Amino acid sequence: MRTQVTIIGSGPAGLLLGQLLTRAGIDNIILDRVSKDYILGRVRAGVLEWGSVGLLDEAGAGARMHAEGLPHDGYSLAFDGRDHRIDLFALTGKRVMVYGQTEVTRDLMDAREASGAQTIYEAGHVQPHDFDGENPYVTYEKDGVTHRIDCDFIAGCDGFHGVSRKSVPEGAIQNFEKIYPFGWLGVLAEIPPVSHELIYANHPRGFALCSMRSETRSRYYVQCTLDDKVENWSDERFFDELRRRLPAHHAEAMVVGPSFEKSIAPLRSFVAEPMRFGRMFLVGDAAHIVPPTGAKGLNLAASDVHYLFEGLRDYYGDHSSAGIDTYSARALKRVWKSVRFSWSMTTLMHRFPDTGDFGQKIQEAELDYLTHSVAASTAMAENYVGLPL
Ligand SMILES: Cc1cc2nc3c(=O)[nH]c(=O)nc-3n(C[C@H](O)[C@H](O)[C@H](O)COP(=O)(O)OP(=O)(O)OC[C@H]3O[C@@H](n4cnc5c(N)ncnc54)[C@H](O)[C@@H]3O)c2cc1C
Repeated sequence: MRTQVTIIGSGPAGLLLGQLLTRAGIDNIILDRVSKDYILGRVRAGVLEWGSVGLLDEAGAGARMHAEGLPHDGYSLAFDGRDHRIDLFALTGKRVMVYGQTEVTRDLMDAREASGAQTIYEAGHVQPHDFDGENPYVTYEKDGVTHRIDCDFIAGCDGFHGVSRKSVPEGAIQNFEKIYPFGWLGVLAEIPPVSHELIYANHPRGFALCSMRSETRSRYYVQCTLDDKVENWSDERFFDELRRRLPAHHAEAMVVGPSFEKSIAPLRSFVAEPMRFGRMFLVGDAAHIVPPTGAKGLNLAASDVHYLFEGLRDYYGDHSSAGIDTYSARALKRVWKSVRFSWSMTTLMHRFPDTGDFGQKIQEAELDYLTHSVAASTAMAENYVGLPL
């Protein structure tokens, strides 16, 4: 088999890249090791920067998002029993779109199917080869048979645990990592959100986040220890804890109900540099991970795709390799700013086991500063809605 770009991974990064390439007339094949249904069963991100909204439109996959997504003009920081609203629209002229990653993925899959482009699910032992030379190829197994795809380029969109980054020789890549000493316990429930905007809560008992997927579906989180187990958390205990971490008016207004998804995610910041190795590019979570506090993971995957798509389009359209040559540097510039923002928001809002009362006082001072300084609120809002692509 031969194609122009082999894409490893059918998450948001791989699907968005595939869709943009297909629309530009660039042939591509997507490989994923799991099934379509498995991918659609994953519950992950939910807040899209407006730049990501624009990219989904450019990919021809934005119609349902505009019909069903919830544009948000702001969010609340809750602390010390009160709320401070960050008015995103007033401060930056931009908003964000609340629309679940599962829906983004479904829309991109539907668009891909309609275009007739090929996706191979449940591809085993996917392996990129010879990406340091002129003739890279990818092998995989399907139904007991080994297949080979020859291509011009390989896009490693296969997430943090994928094979692309692991295939790079050790000396050619540098990893930067920070592990946070806590996780997030999240539940999804068919109940109306406690507020029409997100609430990020800093509380002596730990961080909490009230988010949503729609007007009838809530996504709530509480900070938990790394060794905690989902089995320790009945719905009753979860909602009890969540309410204790919110200002009284929210706690009293909260509607509770049975959860249908409950999971614990550890928090980490990770960046691999560079993001290009000869004819293979790393894209999205394959190259970097951020804690979900700043809602940046999915959005960074989209911005990587934007830079890589521009580079590949110019390579095939104008015979210029300038875009692919600068892909890594352009993407990393934005990646590190989002890593910084996600780290700072995580540091501001969570209880750290080793910072004690001093850490608490510094957080209170920072939150008070944010409340009273338009400049500080604007800086936070500008990062939250997404820095320019
Ligand atoms: C539990 C969880 C919760 C999250 N919550 C949030 C959130 O609230 N907000 C936020 O902004 N971000 C969140 N994120 C991050 C966000 O979901 C990711 O940043 C986003 O999915 C990145 O997209 P991606 O396409 O780069 O990677 P992925 O979505 O991970 O997709 C990678 C794809 O590659 C496939 N793959 C992996 N290995 C191979 C292989 N060897 N061969 C073939 N295919 C392979 C996988 O099956 C997968 O389909 C969360 C992530 C997780 C894991």
